[in-house]
Amino acid sequence: RTMLERIETVEPLVGAFITCTADQALADADLADQRIAAGDCAPLTGIPVALKDIFMTAGIRTTCASRILENFIAPYDATAWSRMKEQGAVLLGKLNQDEFAMGSSCETSAFGPTRNPWNSACIPGGSSGGSAAAIAARQAVATLGTDTGGSIRQPASHCGCVGLKPTYGRVSRYGVIAYASSLDQVGPMTRDVRDCALLLQVIAGHDPKDSTSVDTPVPDYGAALTGEVAGMKIGLPREYFIEGLDPAVQQAMDQAIARFRELGAELVPVSLPHTSYAVACYYLIATAEASSNLARYDGIRFGHRAQNAAGLIDLMMQSRAHGFGSEVKRRIMLGTYALSSGYYDAYYLKAQKVRSLIQQDFTEAFKQVDLLLTPTAPTPAFRLGEKVSDPLQMYLSDIFTIPVNLAGICGISVPAGMSSDGLPVGLQLVGRPFGEETILRAAHAFE
Ligand code: GLN
Repeated sequence: RTMLERIETVEPLVGAFITCTADQALADADLADQRIAAGDCAPLTGIPVALKDIFMTAGIRTTCASRILENFIAPYDATAWSRMKEQGAVLLGKLNQDEFAMGSSCETSAFGPTRNPWNSACIPGGSSGGSAAAIAARQAVATLGTDTGGSIRQPASHCGCVGLKPTYGRVSRYGVIAYASSLDQVGPMTRDVRDCALLLQVIAGHDPKDSTSVDTPVPDYGAALTGEVAGMKIGLPREYFIEGLDPAVQQAMDQAIARFRELGAELVPVSLPHTSYAVACYYLIATAEASSNLARYDGIRFGHRAQNAAGLIDLMMQSRAHGFGSEVKRRIMLGTYALSSGYYDAYYLKAQKVRSLIQQDFTEAFKQVDLLLTPTAPTPAFRLGEKVSDPLQMYLSDIFTIPVNLAGICGISVPAGMSSDGLPVGLQLVGRPFGEETILRAAHAFE
C-alpha cells in the first residue's frame, strides 16, 4: 500500500510505469497478509515488484512499449514471472522501456520517455529504463529487466541500483518478447546485491519451455555472499580503460580498484584484443535476429491492424508502418539488409566469426583471472534528447556491456560513486559462464 502511494506521488515526475495494476496488487497484498499471519511464507511473499513490459503477464496488457502491441493482452505468463508469483511476489505493474528493447535511453518508447529519478532532465538509461527508475524512485522493491546488449546493466548504472545479466541459458526466456534471441537474457534489478541474489535464485533454472535454458543445478546464491574477496584475481581489461573516459567514471573506477586491493583481491592487467569490433558485430547480429523475430507483427496474428487496407500486402505494410517506431524500422531494415542474399557472407557471417573471436578473448582472460572489472558505461546518464538524433552516439553507450552478451557470459552493475553533479556511476563485474556466484560475492563485498 505504501508502494502504491509512492507510485502515485512520484509517477508524474518519473514516468516509470506503462500499466499500473493497483487493484489486483491490493487484493494480492491482502492475501499475502493472511499467509504471513498464518506463518505460510515463501521467499517473496508480499514483496511488491514490477516487470519490464516485455514480459508476458496473463490477462494484463503487455505492450513492449510499442504501438503495434498497444492493446495486446498476454494470454499466459512468462516463466520468470510465474516463478516469482509462485514464491508470493505481488505485481504492481508493467514498466516502461525502449520500444522492443531497442535503445539505451528509454526514449524510443511509444508511451514517452521515463526520467532519471536523480535528475529529471536526464535519461534513466535503457532499454530497461523503467525497471531501473522504479527501483531508484522506490516505486518497487525489485524489478525484472532484459539485457540483449546492456539493457539491465547500463540503466542500473545510470540510476544507482544493482542489475545482473545472467549467463545465456541461466534464466528462461519463455514468454519474453524476443528481440535478438541469441543475446537476450532476463535478470534482476534491485537496491542491493543481497536482493539481487535472492531474486536470481527464484528465476534461475531449467525450463522445459525454453530449449536454450540450461539444465545445470542452480547454486545457493545467498551463500556466495561471504564478504570475502581476499585472494580473488580480478582482471582489468586494458581496452576498457580508454582515454576519454568521463572523469567521474574514471574516478569511480580508481576508487573501486583501490577498494578491492584493500579487501585483499589481486588486480591483474589483462587484454581483450577484439573489443573494438564488438559494437559493429553486435549491431549486425542483433538487427539480423530482430528483423526475423519482428516479422510476426503482421497486423493479422498480433496487435495493431490497419483499417481500410487494400488487400493483404497493403494490410501488412500499413499495420507495420503505423505500428512500429522509427528506431525499430531502422533496425528491421539494417537486419534485413545484412541477411539478404549477396550480403549475408560479407556482413552476417563475418559478424558471427568476429563474435567467436570476442568469445575467445574472454576464455583466454579467464585462464588468468576469476572475474573482470570495468566501467558499466562510458559516461553517467546523459540529457533527454541529447543523442536521439544521432543513433551511432547512442549505440556507443553500450560499448562496455555488449561484449558480455556476445560471449554469453554474466555481468553485474553495482553503484560505485557519484559524478560532481549528483548522477550515479556504476561498476561492472564480469564472470565466467555460470560464474554468477563469483560476481555476486565480489559485488557484495564491494557495495
Ligand atoms: N542499447 C542496445 C540496443 O539498442 C541494447 C539493448 C538491450 O540490451 N535490449 O540494442
